[in-house]
Amino acid sequence: MSLLFISDLHLHPSRPEVTQAFYRFLSTHQTNKIEALYILGDFFEAWLGDDDDTPMYHEVIQRLHDYSQQGIPIYFMHGNRDFLIGERFARAANLTLLTDPTVITYNDENYLLMHGDSLCTKDSDYMAFRQMTRTAEWQQKILSLTLDERRSYASSLRKTSQSMTSLKAADILDVTPADVVRVMEEHSVRTLIHGHTHRPNTHTLTVNDSPARRIVLGDWETYGWYLTINGTTPSLEHFSI
Ligand code: MN
Repeated sequence: MSLLFISDLHLHPSRPEVTQAFYRFLSTHQTNKIEALYILGDFFEAWLGDDDDTPMYHEVIQRLHDYSQQGIPIYFMHGNRDFLIGERFARAANLTLLTDPTVITYNDENYLLMHGDSLCTKDSDYMAFRQMTRTAEWQQKILSLTLDERRSYASSLRKTSQSMTSLKAADILDVTPADVVRVMEEHSVRTLIHGHTHRPNTHTLTVNDSPARRIVLGDWETYGWYLTINGTTPSLEHFSI
């Protein structure tokens, strides 16, 4: 039995090959050996509200729902691009929303799951924006706009904010090492799994005087990246898109 983790697919109607790669990924992981699928944010390139009527989104929701019907639970953590995903989406896709961060236990081992943007603390403009946009008040205000109004607001944000919208790893600040250690110590874990930075890798570090590791999922562009945990062994894999 194993767990599956993905993040940063940045699904969008303009990149149908990535959506197709995701469907392929689901169909090649349809065995009774998968215990759960975790999506750790930026699954969509943008999300302006669960009332978005773009056909491709409905198709993706249906695929997630179908996948869950095999008895594989799906867990979803918000990223900085799809943090407006709400309960209506969760019900339609038959998945469970997770808060960031979340600790899960699997085969007696604890794993800290995050999207990763909250660890890029050197970008103070972004951190301020993040704090503002994660309040219920701000989200209610945005969601009360019409879909067209939200679309023009999002495109005005894209023009003003680089850090919000950059897609190249070189434009995304990496995590702050001291904050990684702090958050791992706070949650008493020796493994952190996150995405966001588009720098897939496994890093070793020291947490609470013990060996620890930080596993970074990759974004889906040339390759589709995913992590499996089989028993207590994590393995970061990729395939060509
Ligand atoms: Mn991100």
